[in-house]
Amino acid sequence: MSDFVSVASDGDVAVVTIDNPPVNAMSFHVREPLHQALAALRDDPSVAAIVIACAGRTFVAGADITEFGKPVQQPELRAVIALLETIAKPTVAAIHGTALGGGLELALGCHFRVADSKAKLGLPEVKLGLLPGGGGTVRLPRLVGAEKALGMIVSGAPIGAVEALEAGLVDAVFDGELVAQAVRFASEMVAKGGRFLPVRDRNDRLGKTDLAAFDRQAAELAKKARGLEAPIACAQAVRNAISLSFDEALAAERELFLKLVAGDQSRAQRHLFFAEREAARGPGKDVARRKITRIGIIGAGTMGGGIAMAFANGGFPVTLLETNEEALQRGLATIDKNYAVSVGRGSLTEAARQQRLGLFKGSTDYADLADCDLIVEAVFEEMAVKQEVFGKLDAVAKPGAILATNTSYLDVNAIAASTSRPQDVVGLHFFSPANVMKLLEIVRAEKTAPDALATVVELARGIGKVPVVVGVCHGFVGNRMLAARGAESEALLLEGATPSQIDRVFTDFGWPIGPFQMGDLAGLDIGWRNRKARGLTAVIADTLCEQGRFGQKTGSGWYRYEDGSRDPSPDPEVENLIRAKAAEKGIAARAIDADEIIERTLYPLVNEGAKILEEKIADRASDIDVVWVNGYGFPIGKGGPMFWAGLEGAGKIVERLEYWHGQTGKEVFKPAPLLRRFAETGSWEAAAR
Ligand code: NAD
Repeated sequence: MSDFVSVASDGDVAVVTIDNPPVNAMSFHVREPLHQALAALRDDPSVAAIVIACAGRTFVAGADITEFGKPVQQPELRAVIALLETIAKPTVAAIHGTALGGGLELALGCHFRVADSKAKLGLPEVKLGLLPGGGGTVRLPRLVGAEKALGMIVSGAPIGAVEALEAGLVDAVFDGELVAQAVRFASEMVAKGGRFLPVRDRNDRLGKTDLAAFDRQAAELAKKARGLEAPIACAQAVRNAISLSFDEALAAERELFLKLVAGDQSRAQRHLFFAEREAARGPGKDVARRKITRIGIIGAGTMGGGIAMAFANGGFPVTLLETNEEALQRGLATIDKNYAVSVGRGSLTEAARQQRLGLFKGSTDYADLADCDLIVEAVFEEMAVKQEVFGKLDAVAKPGAILATNTSYLDVNAIAASTSRPQDVVGLHFFSPANVMKLLEIVRAEKTAPDALATVVELARGIGKVPVVVGVCHGFVGNRMLAARGAESEALLLEGATPSQIDRVFTDFGWPIGPFQMGDLAGLDIGWRNRKARGLTAVIADTLCEQGRFGQKTGSGWYRYEDGSRDPSPDPEVENLIRAKAAEKGIAARAIDADEIIERTLYPLVNEGAKILEEKIADRASDIDVVWVNGYGFPIGKGGPMFWAGLEGAGKIVERLEYWHGQTGKEVFKPAPLLRRFAETGSWEAAAR
């Protein structure tokens, strides 16, 4: 019929097969022939039932998101589903792989759904700042009940076939021979006879909704949305499914969808979706990969332990090396304890814990690293120590092994130079806790070989990380920009702002946590040690550290933490200290508003990003956004600092930076030439050319 949709018959059952690799997206060139085929089969008296199945590795895994925001080419998905629901003979979706978004909505247009036992089903639109716009919010609750549907649609998380069977989303689960089983299922339905109700007419589950419980659940979810519109709209749409007629609810879903798809938040989230995929491509498909079987980790401290877990969680055997037996046992015990906590929480089975622990081998002898294909160093942040470690690695590592450093700031070129094989050296900057945080800055040093780089990018993806390739500079992309964001912290305090006021501006902006709370969480001693090593000072932060106020771990820092609580309370002592230091410097307190705080923290953040782009430390502005959203909590609804700069208005940012540069003479405010070009062209790509 078409290259993308074909029809075959198995007795009197017609099997419609969609074949649109790689994931059978619901593109226009699928919808059109599918619509035609279904219309013909509906009217064909020789056809008793219809099965919709997919070729390749999955059922329809979603809409074609490259079509979002463009004029819709008819027939749109909703029309295909509406047509499906006019068919009186039994229709069956045969689901393998993943039925996501528009794919699941298509399946919801069928009378029945049968699934392979390994299939997953979900409506992930919320992750793109959208809601399911093809009737998903109105049909899913009719099958699984409003509360279950709300949970699935607001989280966007897919469920497995067995759970879907229990929930009433699918009617049968099979192991293997799915299409044949679906045909058999369809024939049984034909034999059973009677009238088959489309999902739109099935109201029994919805009628039983406990409205008060539903509204409580929706209110909870709204609280967690932190300023994102899509989760709220999702909840509203499901609520409409309960209280309005099918057609009214469907029309309301459409309206909500159109509003979201045209909004900045969804644009930002779709930008991030493509940005992550682009960043994860690394040097490209044509570059060869090295074989990675066993991982070595040096240092079993905070980072080494977390990195080791990240690899073990990805199924890799790990050799963990420490300076002595005591430090090694301490590191292994922490890993053991972390897995036990996961088991206690129910997020890991006991069997999986045992299996993962079985992947670890401890050692204090560098010779034991000889069989490792990738060795990641996570020892103290000192160049001399790092170079000594890499010197030893050079002597024991097998030829072609990739040697990586987890340094936060240091020059990876200098570390590479302490080996005879700088082509094998790369930075792998994990974020803490390394077994949880998704971001991985992959530092390409001057001499890093393309195949070494391609290998670690692919490996990072394989263990569920979000990789971004960056160049060498002090602090790479993330920490370098973080320094720019915080450069005015002390000045703002001295001039009259308070830590809680600044943090509040950040959380109102959408950050999960403000910079001072963040400092208390990470430990103020880290920055203090760094400053001392670099001959820098920070009058207030240094004094806090001299007083032993390191943050949460000591019960006080920028805030006070009563009785081991993690909730910060503002501390008058800190405010007194700030005022005293200001008086010493002859600075009078004045009122500082939210706009000024943003101009002096987030505008320098963007400006530093532009400098990084100019220096080609990052390949693309979108890579910087990926770093900030995944590593530092930049609000996803604003798309990362570089995307947000466009929303905020680059011209305005340049103008205000110039103003602050004039006021303070500080380098962080001096607008980068590339930022000026962005203001002129409206495109980072054009500006970077
Ligand atoms: P840590 O002090 O918790 O752990 C360092 C470990 O390395 C210690 O257990 C120590 O015994 C061991 N060690 C020291 N010298 C060694 C050697 N020669 N051979 C083997 N083991 C040795 O420190 P950390 O916080 O895990 O930081 C480690 C590295 O990770 C640093 O380079 C740091 O900058 C970087 N990093 C830290 C964070 C963070 O948030 N803590 C985040 C990203 C990167």
